[in-house]
Amino acid sequence: MNIVLLGPPGSGKGTQSKKIAERYNLAHISTGDLLRDAVANNIDVGIDIKAYLDVGKLVPDEVISKLLQIRLSAEDVRNGYILDGYPRTLAQAYLLESFLRLDVVLLLDADYKYILNRITTRSVCSGCKATLSDSQLINNLCPICGSTTFKRSDDNEQTFSKRFQVYEELTTPLIDFYKTKGILKSVDGNGGVEEIFDKIKVILDGVTK
Ligand SMILES: [Zn+2]
Repeated sequence: MNIVLLGPPGSGKGTQSKKIAERYNLAHISTGDLLRDAVANNIDVGIDIKAYLDVGKLVPDEVISKLLQIRLSAEDVRNGYILDGYPRTLAQAYLLESFLRLDVVLLLDADYKYILNRITTRSVCSGCKATLSDSQLINNLCPICGSTTFKRSDDNEQTFSKRFQVYEELTTPLIDFYKTKGILKSVDGNGGVEEIFDKIKVILDGVTK
């Protein structure tokens, strides 16, 4: 089973992707990891990826497409894959059309207000790196390991509203594209991790049958 997972920033795509990969025995592929691996393993794609990453420039779509093609030929992908947060734009989706055979595109549909509330009331543990809801903290300390906690610098409304706006502009045409192809499945993303995962399982169990 081959899946793409779409959703706004802060909707928990990474967490759900890992859970899906584990349950359905799929390779979890994120383009961030792909780029880092390509740099670490010196994969030649005609450009110096590290130079792009170092200055925070976007790596060209064609390069990511090429890396994906290489990644998808790996042994662990035989049972299928989940693409986490890619493609983001219609142009990227077109590029993938020639070699991706998608069974389902899952859309984690979470509201702006819901995500904003979640990210502005969460902290990260300086010790075990867990992301915690502020209501779980004990005297501002991590309930798991007792270390101090801090707020991520991008967990504020200004940064989030910009990222959300960009997401909506770029991804709305993408959603329409996959809807037209008949493979888009929308999941209500306003809820806890397990609650959302239960809904995803119902959809994916239906696809595998
Ligand atoms: Zn901790």
